Amino acid sequence: MNQIMITRLIIETTRQCQLMCNHCLRGDSEKLTMSRGHMEQLLENVEFIDNVTFTGGEPFLNPECIEDFISICRLGSIEVNSFFIATNGIVHETDTDLSRRGLAAVCGLYSLCADNEVTQIRISNTPWHGENTSQENLLSAFSFTHWEGADWIPASIIAEGRGAGIHGSSRTVDNNINWDYPDEVDVYLNCEGKVCWNCDLSYETQRLCGLHLDGAVHMLDQINDARLEECA
Ligand code: SF4
Repeated sequence: MNQIMITRLIIETTRQCQLMCNHCLRGDSEKLTMSRGHMEQLLENVEFIDNVTFTGGEPFLNPECIEDFISICRLGSIEVNSFFIATNGIVHETDTDLSRRGLAAVCGLYSLCADNEVTQIRISNTPWHGENTSQENLLSAFSFTHWEGADWIPASIIAEGRGAGIHGSSRTVDNNINWDYPDEVDVYLNCEGKVCWNCDLSYETQRLCGLHLDGAVHMLDQINDARLEECA
């Protein structure tokens, strides 16, 4: 029976990426992609997701993951309000089968979502990313696509993955659940079938602290109970 609500679900679409940014909090690319089975297991009892984020790696290297997510939500009658995709934009600089499939997946997501008020695709085009995209990028056809062009200072870089090697990077993150605010817990599903409670962890840290899906599904129940108690 569906009953769980998730405020923000983050799906690690793939660990592959065309770039090797110096500040990358994930670390080096890995040949791993999200499996439909992992998403099905996590979402089995979920009835509502306020926002779903597709991240990576570069999410548009694996549009199949977005297609699978849409199919799982439709089959399971899971309501989704909005989505966010963080991309380096490279796939959509040229018209290829892969880029067309990604555009179709975005259209499918938009039509799945009930609200879309905060829906956004963000192309990271900072100097840290090497400015790989143009204004003609195919994603610019969507009114909800934005470029992130800020010149981040080292102090704003998260000290995870390769970011930990940048002199002056000082932001640290943890994987703790804040039980005082069960409504604000991030649910990050990774390609290894593990769940973390923070979306800014490196692949290495995720291996150390990620919870296997069986335990994570149980934990989702507890977070949901805490949320209901807060509402009572
Ligand atoms: S920061 Fe993004 S674009 Fe750069 S290497 Fe990491 S995943 Fe790829």
